[in-house]
Amino acid sequence: MDEKTLLRLAKTHGTPLVVVDHKVLRENYAQFRKYLPRVQAYYAVKANPAPEIVRTFHDAGASFDVASVAEFLTVHENIKDLPEEQRQNFIWDRIIYANPIKAAETLEQLDPYKPLVTYDNYEEVIKIGRHAPHAGLVLRLGVPNTGSMVELSSKFGASPGEAVDLIAFARNNKLEVEGLSFHVGSQCTNIQNYIQALQLASSVFSEARTLGVELKLLDIGGGFPAHYDDTVPAFRTLARVINRELDRLFPQPIEILAEPGRFLVASAATAVAQIIGKAVRGGKLCYYVNDGVYQTFSGVIFDHCQYPLKSFKNGPTQICSVFGPTCDALDTISLAEELPDMDLGDFVYAQNIGAYSAASSTYFNGFPPARVVHVNQ
Ligand SMILES: *Cc1c(COP(=O)(O)O)cnc(C)c1O
Repeated sequence: MDEKTLLRLAKTHGTPLVVVDHKVLRENYAQFRKYLPRVQAYYAVKANPAPEIVRTFHDAGASFDVASVAEFLTVHENIKDLPEEQRQNFIWDRIIYANPIKAAETLEQLDPYKPLVTYDNYEEVIKIGRHAPHAGLVLRLGVPNTGSMVELSSKFGASPGEAVDLIAFARNNKLEVEGLSFHVGSQCTNIQNYIQALQLASSVFSEARTLGVELKLLDIGGGFPAHYDDTVPAFRTLARVINRELDRLFPQPIEILAEPGRFLVASAATAVAQIIGKAVRGGKLCYYVNDGVYQTFSGVIFDHCQYPLKSFKNGPTQICSVFGPTCDALDTISLAEELPDMDLGDFVYAQNIGAYSAASSTYFNGFPPARVVHVNQ
């Protein structure tokens, strides 16, 4: 998004502002499909749950990964153009409930939809059998998350050694296991994680076959890296390796799903904020802006992500600190930004802030989340 348009939008709508460009959403989705043609993308709604984004991906042909009843309903509401009957039949084609741990009440709310849900432990099987007997199951495997920006393997995933026992246990509880899933960790730039995960999954497929269970689908999860900077390997390169391994280890008619979140939305949003204060502390220039880590910049804390700030002004730069508007010292966007001399009221912006940002905004200290505008819808 060019600076002129950003400034115009900021002046029209006020700041703090987040601009979501739906042209970029469609391009990212098209890239994903182009380079991973065998893989149906289930957009991970938690990365950015704006209904406008859900609709754009739905229109482009995407399916959805949800992890709460609220996310499930956001998606279900937005696929209303499908007739009721088809929505029931096609729910597995459209939605996977990919949170391995589900409260009993959640399962009861989901059961009428005959959902496809993930699990990774024995207690969950018993719970699903009792509260969502119409669900289809996908076993989540624990896989290496080495080097990923956000690690998930400590919280979820069955060990490969117990995988087949968990499949047999589900069948003994009158539940059908449709396939396997895994997650290599978010912003995964280490291709080896995908290679090892696919190999582990393949050996579980074989072992299940010896039990007489023919698994039908493989869900390769999320983790596909957004191009935050040039250290991130090209998606094309990663995809080439994944395709090769998929064709070698999971021949047709095994269905392949993925749950990309960050890859589809990160580059589609830009945040614009305004300078509301300026001070020199310990010889260092400090800017205070009207958006921070409790709002759009929440990814600095929760996503281990940095968003370089840019000025609309030119001129010699110096290393500055940039703080959010709240009274908390944790509300620090950066202690080392290269910025030119700016005045109160000047605008700054941060690109690639579409994933895990506005999604976890709070109202802390009375500062509400930034306004969001959608362009090129
Ligand atoms: C968060 C999450 C995703 C999305 O991950 P990205 O790294 O953003 O692609 C996909 N699947 C599951 C189960 C998740 O928890």
